[in-house]
Amino acid sequence: MKKQLKSVLIGCLLACGLGQGLAQAQTYPDKPIILVVPFAAGGPTDVVARMIAIPMGKSLGQTVLVENTVGAGGTIATQRVARAAPNGYTLFIHHMGMATAPALYKKLNFDTLKDFEYIGQVVDVPMTLLARKDFPAKNFAELKTYVQANKEKVSMANAGLGAVSHLCGLLFMTALDTTLNTIPYKGTGPAMNDLLGGQVDLLCDQTSQTVPLIKENRVKVYGVTTLKRLEVLPNVPTLDEQGLKGFEVKVWHGMYAPKGTPAPVIDKVNVALRAALQDPMIKQRFKDLSLEAPSMDKVTPAGLKTQLEAEIIKWGPVIRKAGIYAD
Ligand code: ASP
Repeated sequence: MKKQLKSVLIGCLLACGLGQGLAQAQTYPDKPIILVVPFAAGGPTDVVARMIAIPMGKSLGQTVLVENTVGAGGTIATQRVARAAPNGYTLFIHHMGMATAPALYKKLNFDTLKDFEYIGQVVDVPMTLLARKDFPAKNFAELKTYVQANKEKVSMANAGLGAVSHLCGLLFMTALDTTLNTIPYKGTGPAMNDLLGGQVDLLCDQTSQTVPLIKENRVKVYGVTTLKRLEVLPNVPTLDEQGLKGFEVKVWHGMYAPKGTPAPVIDKVNVALRAALQDPMIKQRFKDLSLEAPSMDKVTPAGLKTQLEAEIIKWGPVIRKAGIYAD
């Protein structure tokens, strides 16, 4: 009887069109899923995406393919996802750039708060202030003196307006009351290649990419952007303890889908994300790179929505005060 009732109910729902999402969710996913990364391959966002794509794919029973869509500090990719079919086969991972874009860009082809469904927060990532290996300053005190004496002669890489490397660089220049010659890249993956090659002097980047390079002594590191030293880099002082009082940048990341993606599909992806973050291999990789998985109450649509709304309110005035924006 129960089974008959259920199939009659589904029949009615399908007949009146309400059950499209339900029908879709029942078979979802029945083909590979694309996870869009808004920066070039090899950078910290790409590293995190490729790491969690594997266990998520296992949970969902379909391959999760990472696709890099680059440009304009991540807003080109954000626009792509906002326009994608809301069927669960296009997902998006982005960091706090989702919250800073509305203040940085006078014209955006998407509405950060209206064009997306929220899946959950993914990870919080500290940053490190680096220089190319043979940069003259041996420590932060020497860096401060050198940068203030050489201003525009010093180049600082970032991943474009709205990237966290851009934001970290701005906070660093403001703290030192100086401006540097900033060089934008499609992501801090390619930026790091130039830092390692000696083509650019400084870069502020996330530990997801920089911990192995620091440990292999392939770059100079001046400090971390957390208020406490990192377990994996105990000898690297914080910028706060070296005089940049309160200098803190911790990069939160969220996972999104296009507005209109059916709730049952969002639920399935959320379950897979939560399982991935609790996967022992992911927990170990996160620990090795000083990445912090949010508490499970934040790995929810409401947890991400709350974070995004709060961060838009927080960063708007900071960005407007700094007078930074794209035309
Ligand atoms: N997260 C960006 C990347 O993965 C870098 C940035 O935002 O600065 O390249």
